Amino acid sequence: MNKFVYMFDQGRGDQRELLGGKGANLAEMTRIGLPVPFGFTISTEACNAYYEAGKAFSKEMEDQVLEALHNLEERTGKKLGDASNPLLVSVRSGAVHSMPGMMDTVLNLGMNDKTVEGMAKLTNNPRFAYDSYRRFIQMFSDVVLKVDGFYFEQLLEEVREEKGYESDPEMTAEDWKDVIKGYKEIVKKYTKGSFPEDPKEQLFLSISAVFDSWNNQRAVIYRRLQKIPGHLGTAVNIQSMVFGNMGDDSGTGVAFTRNPSTGEAKLYGEYLINAQGEDVVAGIRTPQPIVTLQNEMPEVYQQFVETCNLLEGHYQDMQDIEFTVERGQLFILQTRTGKRTAQAAIKIAVDLVEEQIISKKKALLRVDPDQLNQLLHRRIDESYERNALAKGLPASPGAATGQVVFDADDADRLAKEEKKVILVRPETTPDDIHGIVAAQATVTSRGGMTSHAAVVARGMGKACICGCESVSIDLKGKKFKVGETFVYEGDVITIDGSTGEIFIGEIPMIEPQLSDEFQLLLTWADEERKLGVRANADNPEDARKAVEFGAGGIGLCRTEHMFMDATRIPIVQEMILADSYEQREVALSKLLPMQQEDFEGIFEAMKGHPVTIRLLDPPLHEFLPDKEELLVEVTKLQMTNPESEELKEKEFLLRKVRQLDEFNPMLGHRGCRLGMSYPEIYVMQAKAIFYAIAKVIEKGTNVKPEIMIPLVGHVNELKEMRQLVIDAGKQIEQETGQKFDYIVGTMIEVPRAALTADQIAEEADFFSFGTNDLTQTTFGYSRDDAEGKFLQSYIENKVLPENPFTVLDQNGVGKLVETGVRLGRKTKPTLKTGICGEHGGEKQSIEFCHETGLDYVSCSPYRVPLARLAAAQAMIKHELKQSVNELQAQK
Ligand code: PEP
Ligand code: MG
Repeated sequence: MNKFVYMFDQGRGDQRELLGGKGANLAEMTRIGLPVPFGFTISTEACNAYYEAGKAFSKEMEDQVLEALHNLEERTGKKLGDASNPLLVSVRSGAVHSMPGMMDTVLNLGMNDKTVEGMAKLTNNPRFAYDSYRRFIQMFSDVVLKVDGFYFEQLLEEVREEKGYESDPEMTAEDWKDVIKGYKEIVKKYTKGSFPEDPKEQLFLSISAVFDSWNNQRAVIYRRLQKIPGHLGTAVNIQSMVFGNMGDDSGTGVAFTRNPSTGEAKLYGEYLINAQGEDVVAGIRTPQPIVTLQNEMPEVYQQFVETCNLLEGHYQDMQDIEFTVERGQLFILQTRTGKRTAQAAIKIAVDLVEEQIISKKKALLRVDPDQLNQLLHRRIDESYERNALAKGLPASPGAATGQVVFDADDADRLAKEEKKVILVRPETTPDDIHGIVAAQATVTSRGGMTSHAAVVARGMGKACICGCESVSIDLKGKKFKVGETFVYEGDVITIDGSTGEIFIGEIPMIEPQLSDEFQLLLTWADEERKLGVRANADNPEDARKAVEFGAGGIGLCRTEHMFMDATRIPIVQEMILADSYEQREVALSKLLPMQQEDFEGIFEAMKGHPVTIRLLDPPLHEFLPDKEELLVEVTKLQMTNPESEELKEKEFLLRKVRQLDEFNPMLGHRGCRLGMSYPEIYVMQAKAIFYAIAKVIEKGTNVKPEIMIPLVGHVNELKEMRQLVIDAGKQIEQETGQKFDYIVGTMIEVPRAALTADQIAEEADFFSFGTNDLTQTTFGYSRDDAEGKFLQSYIENKVLPENPFTVLDQNGVGKLVETGVRLGRKTKPTLKTGICGEHGGEKQSIEFCHETGLDYVSCSPYRVPLARLAAAQAMIKHELKQSVNELQAQK
């Protein structure tokens, strides 16, 4: 027999795969004795069996559901469909990974023309009973019968207007009865059938609908974004209903055990008196902050606080809790690990260590390195005198500037045109998710801190403001109004998600700093990690930033960036255009002191940490004017001023540009191939490095230079270039009377270098894997062409799992890295190895580098904190895997 159905007291919290996140949590909460309304879970296996059977229930599954229902009826003393004591249940989806709002839910199931009367009698509150009934019809029709909710809203609006009411609480039982009649007619009209009165039929139809919603469009998009596999399926939770709308001693709310924006260890959330759960989420009524519950219902509040402590102690993490109070009695509907901003994730992880709830290693695993980007984002300059247009709830921190758009599709379209937009909506629904993804930030005029927009934006680390009620939006007219001010579609605004403020126009922003908790967490990461973290930096300013963010050195200094400076480019061009060695030497001698000055600045900023300087890499034509533009200029001059000096100069330039023109520059005359052709360029660079070393040592600062030769494919190239550097070193040692301590190594960025790494290691003191070029040359893609033309469709169609220029292709490029390390160390066991392609700042690639035994990763200064954390996580995960293996071996 297959077991498809589990009562809440039959499961455990570690059965997420089987029961889904929500089901496992409900079981766990029941097990630890929390006040959870009783029920049962239909497993994810049942969902898959349902799909396998062509979206049908087997007899076995059906029987198990009926038996569980019977069990539930016994436990609650109520019966589904019993007019005198009806059991009402909720039917909710619950996948393994949280997918907030993406799948369907049915509440108040079990209501029909008879049970509604029973409810009216039992509660002595007919108004409530009929309100619940009409809610049920509306939701069931929308989710199960697929009748557009709009028709029901429209009818309700009409009834309200007719009666002259402003809001729902003014509706009487009789009014609701009229609405129900109307609702049933709508169902008849759009489904050609009548509303199902049999509660068991309602139940099975709802279970199917929830299973089906696993594959609805928004769920599929969300899964793709969050990389959740489609084969997991969703569980369905059937739970007895409790009611928060049974009068002023009832209510419902959502709360986090700590603040999910800042991490502050204080209850955070909101509730509504005399309301059902969807009223809070829909954001139609603005809820009360949780602290006021202390005055309104002191005993319930006390019990709630104790429950939160129990939950945090049990789950060892911040929880996101849904609760209901039914006539003064507290029920916990669900709890899950709360989504949080990066700032909160760090503070909570550090605080939990200080509260002795978790270990430092656990804390390090609690923060997703990708999320840290949020903290390294810009924020509004403090010195700016704030003059906010409007203020709403600070729903997700960070600042953003963009053009106003009012529609998710427009946001999506404009973002594809590289425009920065801010999505402004009365409220968002799961159908707007692509717009939230595309926008820099989202603003809603309605809804609280736990509304859809707020939860989704926080999860994505995007700035968001909710409940900004002073913004009155005219969706049709594509404009909004605050007081007398109008803002139109396309106007630029800036928002501050940390304060909830909206400003007109673009506002100066400043670079972020690391908080004390962040610094502390990173020092814990440094204690754990084995992998070094360096930065790619080309100037003293970046070098200082790298040190500030904790880099242990510079892993790549691209010297060509120093050539691009406006004052230098004419001298670089003079060097390139030189007809003879002598002429070139003149230009090079002008460049030398400039390069020397750059290196001095970098060495000083790095205070004795290693600095890897790469000699010139790109093809020379990159320093000359564009061929097409030059051609146009020459043509114009030929027509207007054929005798001019300027024309002669331009014609000469054009000839040179044509000479240097290449069919395939990526594979052409670049890297060490330039040094082989024009050794004097590399000699100049080497001399500039050595003079800089001499100067800095004289000032008493330590230096650890590592000189790197790019794009080596054959050991003979390296041999020659290395000798060139060593000779230059000797010469400057003699001139200055100093002794230099430096090493010479190479980049491994073409497959042949990796495959012959044993030979190359004979001439190299270190290897640095240039995985940008290594990816290009291994795949045979030129990055610009690939990303511009076909890579996106490859990824969308799953030809490739990811962009290999972002996430290291472990099976292909990674194999070459492994081979390079292994062969290199065969020749030189202590050979130092690192990576300096963009992958050095990406968490999965960093884990790979750790596993492969590289000594360090090098990435952009802004990614250094991320890399420090990811390197620590790689170490901790490695240890965990090892201890699991050891345990298995012992068994
Ligand atoms: C590389 O190829 O990985 C690298 C770091 O060099 P660049 O990106 O400058 O070609
Ligand atoms: Mg390269």
